Amino acid sequence: MLIVMNAGASGSEIANVIRVVESLGFRAHSMPGANRTAIGVTGNQGAVDLSHFENLPGVAEAIRVTKPYKLITLDLRPDRTVVDVAGAKIGDGSLAIIAGPCAIESREQAFAAAETVAKSGAKFFRGGAFKPRTSPYSFSGLGEEAFKILGEIRDQFGLRIVSEGLDESTIDIIEQHADMIQIGARNMQNFTLLKRAGRSKLPVLLKRGMAATLEEWLLAAEYVMAEGNYQIVLCERGVRTFAQHTRNTLDLAAVPAVRRISHLPVIVDAAHGTGRSYMVTPLARAGVAVGADGIMVEVHARPDEALSDGAQALNLAEFEQMTRELHAIHKVIGLNGA
Ligand code: PEP
Ligand code: MN
Repeated sequence: MLIVMNAGASGSEIANVIRVVESLGFRAHSMPGANRTAIGVTGNQGAVDLSHFENLPGVAEAIRVTKPYKLITLDLRPDRTVVDVAGAKIGDGSLAIIAGPCAIESREQAFAAAETVAKSGAKFFRGGAFKPRTSPYSFSGLGEEAFKILGEIRDQFGLRIVSEGLDESTIDIIEQHADMIQIGARNMQNFTLLKRAGRSKLPVLLKRGMAATLEEWLLAAEYVMAEGNYQIVLCERGVRTFAQHTRNTLDLAAVPAVRRISHLPVIVDAAHGTGRSYMVTPLARAGVAVGADGIMVEVHARPDEALSDGAQALNLAEFEQMTRELHAIHKVIGLNGA
């Protein structure tokens, strides 16, 4: 259920509605907007009697939600969510660039990438400490040690750190050392992990599962929001198809499709979405053109020597060139996701 407050509803009227929702054993999610506040109600198994709310002071209307989404939807929040990552914004109309190596391998490797990422003006540095690998014999990240390096990068370059959590215990570690929790494609429907991220104070970057429908992906975001964390960025990273010329098929149509339903920012990962470094820049350009709030790519000073995902990593010069092109496109279209 969704309770829409009058434009002029007072703080105490809103607080009163929340009290009534909670007294019935439900959870209230208050979403202040430019014109009015809406309150999403979760935790009810069946239909709730709307008359509990319709006549409370300050309530414009109580609406039964028939769609599968209660919180990620524009019905609840017509204004777009701006995600705040330690002071750097995603979804405010600027172009967010999240770049860095697939995995942190060494101080030297991470710093080489970070220096170029920072110089290009990007605000977000990615780097896996815990890597989900298809083979148990592949490099699976430096673990907690990676955060010593990432911490130095944060201090030296002012970059915000984005890193993937694989399970609840790794989220505990990320919360101590990073600025944003990445939930990977393989974990998009790990519901205990989603709930744990939903209880975090850090924003969440939620990748699309490699065979997930739009609805499954948005419902995964709904899991995080239902626990009270409303700071989510969705990331389209390609899905499995019969195509053999790419690692994944980057579904750029997902960007406008998400924006039609949800207030959450959406970015495009052109690295995993293609798997081939020569395709990364063209598809990143397309991601900006299609209205994404940001782009994620992987960067490595020596892609040939990368311990993971070297084939899709841009080298430093390629990254610099791509960044210039993306900003030029962003400036021209300047549409913030129409
Ligand atoms: C990654 O970002 O390095 C990663 C593992 O991504 P995904 O979960 O999209 O495969
Ligand atoms: Mn990777």
